Parts: sequence; structure tokens; C-alpha cells
Amino acid sequence: MPQPLISLENVSFSYSQNKNWALNNISLCVEQGELIAVMGENGSGKSTLCKLLNGIIPHSQQGTLRGTVIVDGIVTADSSVAELAGRVGMVLEDPDSQLFTARVRDEIAFGLENLLMPPDEIKKRLAWALETTGLLSYMDAPPASLSGGQKQRLAIAAALAMATKALVLDEPTAQLDPAGSRDILSLIKKIRQDSGLTVIMATHASEEAAQFADRICVLKNGTLAACDTPQRVFSNRELLRDNWIRPPQVSELAYCLAEQGESLPAFPIQHDEAKAAVLEWYANGK
Ligand code: ADP
Ligand code: MG
Repeated sequence: MPQPLISLENVSFSYSQNKNWALNNISLCVEQGELIAVMGENGSGKSTLCKLLNGIIPHSQQGTLRGTVIVDGIVTADSSVAELAGRVGMVLEDPDSQLFTARVRDEIAFGLENLLMPPDEIKKRLAWALETTGLLSYMDAPPASLSGGQKQRLAIAAALAMATKALVLDEPTAQLDPAGSRDILSLIKKIRQDSGLTVIMATHASEEAAQFADRICVLKNGTLAACDTPQRVFSNRELLRDNWIRPPQVSELAYCLAEQGESLPAFPIQHDEAKAAVLEWYANGK
């Protein structure tokens, strides 16, 4: 069997300023090419999980770590930040906090220069990352002048240029308008189709998780309450209620109908599924 790209074995972490476990005994395997959405209410541990995957924890964040996090064959706690940077890209919720150079092109080249990559290779990767993320015409602009969505795309471009196998995004669309969110998600979809990138994405956006995720992991007070297909997660009303997760709107419709004693032939989580279910329901005389 192929090794999972990411595996967490009985992982717990507590921040040094906080004696509670932010994550408590998490075990999880992520296969290469999977897209995992991480959901759960505020404080449930989503950002902590993201930070464990690229080594911010334990390398830059003080605390107590138990268990093992393995990414692409290396144990994060025993590896250098530089080793990890070539394996896992990270896009923070607030991209301003990770953009620090004067020009868009420098932001992308920075990590590559740190790896002492030959200038020709840097040029090639820079051009590809700018092209893929639609930022070619902004390459000499200061990152601060970009819109929220463009800044997210720049953070993604910087990770892509490093040719990481995994990309971790902490609530990438939380601060974006619907058009900006759609751009980011179609970009992630396109990159995955092209390169088989593995993506871990913390999100509150149920519609996005329903549309894009292979699995949804639900965190509750630092424990893994569920990790299953979007279909099974969104049709588990108790799980959703328990974790303050709003189902996709089309699933809400199915729940409303169920309260009236009516049930659709299949439980929908996406628009086309709802359309098909409603049409079949009508065809059967409803
Ligand atoms: P989420 O991203 O789901 O909102 P977090 O991972 O940020 O959750 O937080 C999980 C728990 O860890 C919360 O109880 C939070 O208060 C705590 N926590 C997060 N960051 C820190 C920190 N830097 N110092 C101390 N406690 C923290
Ligand atoms: Mg968070």
C-alpha cells in the first residue's frame, strides 16, 4: 500500500500559555491528492492543526507536543523549517501576516533563493507560479497594493513555486467576497487537476466543503469528532448541531422537507444533486 502523504499519530498539543489541550489525541492519514476540509466551531483547533502540518508547531510555537506528525516521509518535530518548507506550503487566514517583501515577484522568489536554487530555475518557477495564479501583470507591484483575493493568490503562488506536495490553507476565503472566494477555489481546483496537490483547508464554508472536499474532518474541542465524506457529514444532523456547522443550503432544504414528513429520493449537498432529487420527487407524483 502507498504511504499516506500526511499522517498524525496520537497527536496532542497545548500552547504554553494555555494548559488545555488545543488538540487532543488526533490520528489521521491523508492520501496524496486528497482535499480535506477541516471544520468545527471557533476554538476547536483548526488553526492549530494547520500549524502542526507545516512545522510552525513545534518549531516556532512554544508548547507541549505529544505524538508524531509525518509529512512526506519526515517527522516534522525532527526536521528543519527549511526541509518542511519544500514539502508543505501554508496560506494563513490573514495573508498580510506572511507577505513581507517589496514586490510580488520577490515574495515568490524569496523561498527559492533561500533554497539556493540556480537563477534559471528560479526564473522558470516564478513565471509558472505567476501565470498559474493570474498575477503575471502584478509581478512588480508591491504586495500591499493587492486586493485580499490577490494576496491569497500570491501566498498560494509562493507555495506553488516551492513545488510543495501539500498546501495547507487556514480559512482562505473567510475574508473574501463571493467573487474572490470563487477565484481562490477554482485556482485550487485547477492546481489539483494539474499536479495532484494534496490540500488541507480549514473552512466554515459548507458549500465550498460540499463541492471541493474528498473528506471533511470535524474538530470538537481539539478532538476529531468525525472524518468522513461530505455526503455523510452533512447528512448527520446531530454532528452538525453539536458542532455548530451549518449544512449547505440545499441540505437545509432536505432537512426542512423531512420535518414536514417528506423526503427527497437522495440527500443533496450540491445544487445539481438537489435539482436531480427534486425533479425525481416531482416525477414520482409529489
Ligand atoms: P480554531 O482555528 O478552530 O478557531 P485554534 O486552533 O485557533 O482554533 O485554537 C484551539 C485552542 O487553542 C483554543 O482554545 C485557543 O484558545 C487555543 N489557542 C490558539 N492559539 C493559541 C495561542 N497562541 N496561545 C494560547 N492558546 C491558543
Ligand atoms: Mg482558526
